[in-house]
Amino acid sequence: MTEVREITIVVKWSGKEYPITDLTDQDTVAVLRHEIFKMTQVRPERQKLLNLKYKGKPAEDNLKLGNLELKPNFKLMMVGSTEADIEDACQRPDDIGEVIDDLEDNDEEESLQNSAIYLAKIQKRIKDYTITELNPPRPDKHLLVLDIDYTLFDHRSSAESGAELMRPYLHEFLTCAYEHYDIVIWSATGMRWIEEKMKLLGVSSHPAYKIMFYLDSHAMISVHTPDRGVIDVKPLGVIWGLYPQYSAANTIMFDDIRRNFLMNPRSGLRIRPFRQAHLNRSTDKELLKLSKYLKDIAINCKDFSKLNHRKWEHYDPRK
Ligand SMILES: [Mg+2]
Repeated sequence: MTEVREITIVVKWSGKEYPITDLTDQDTVAVLRHEIFKMTQVRPERQKLLNLKYKGKPAEDNLKLGNLELKPNFKLMMVGSTEADIEDACQRPDDIGEVIDDLEDNDEEESLQNSAIYLAKIQKRIKDYTITELNPPRPDKHLLVLDIDYTLFDHRSSAESGAELMRPYLHEFLTCAYEHYDIVIWSATGMRWIEEKMKLLGVSSHPAYKIMFYLDSHAMISVHTPDRGVIDVKPLGVIWGLYPQYSAANTIMFDDIRRNFLMNPRSGLRIRPFRQAHLNRSTDKELLKLSKYLKDIAINCKDFSKLNHRKWEHYDPRK
């Protein structure tokens, strides 16, 4: 008789980790899905298990876990929504993100930018955070910093392939932007998760553009704001400290959550979130329109800090 070996798999889903301990190498992928459902309430048919592969293909439900030769405490990346979330999302008005995340023009923004404690935190990141450059910066380029979730990718909807979750025109957008901008991806998740997603979307290997580097949650800093409590933000100073050729004059950052650029409010453009990919795939033209904006300002504007990205749709190069 074969010896039964216990297996622990850590499921990463929606920013949290769920250790699944009640498994052996004789259990099938279907059993694993069932266990995941018990932990997360994401139904088995809605679970997309991104890195569970057998011979290069997604592992079938009847395959035994022992055949997958997983490392101890293997981290399994999952995308999927609970029934409650799906119901919720269907009733959610489109602009709720705006209500929650929008910041008014006020002094808080400016004071945070220059507060010594945050500058010290940024200095610490500059010193301690290791950037793995995938491609070198190019002379005389601007800098574009992009969020992933809901900016380039709908990470909550279920789908069969990365292409279905990808925001429309993503590759066209990046190809066009690359002409004038060095491109950085910055997501509030972990680096392995970012790498998986970029691979899934075909961004990491696209022939028409290159990504300079990825930044993950460890490059972010926590700030305490009077109105919002403690939040994590993406300070561009971390990049500017390491790459002095970029500054507020030539950097723009896209995120669907405005508070992520609380440290650099003038450099941030809040993009409309891309949610419910299955419903909005045929109508979402945000990236197409933003390609034009990026090109227009790169050619016509010498100092990006003079721009008001809240009005990007009305930008007129002649004014
Ligand atoms: Mg996002």
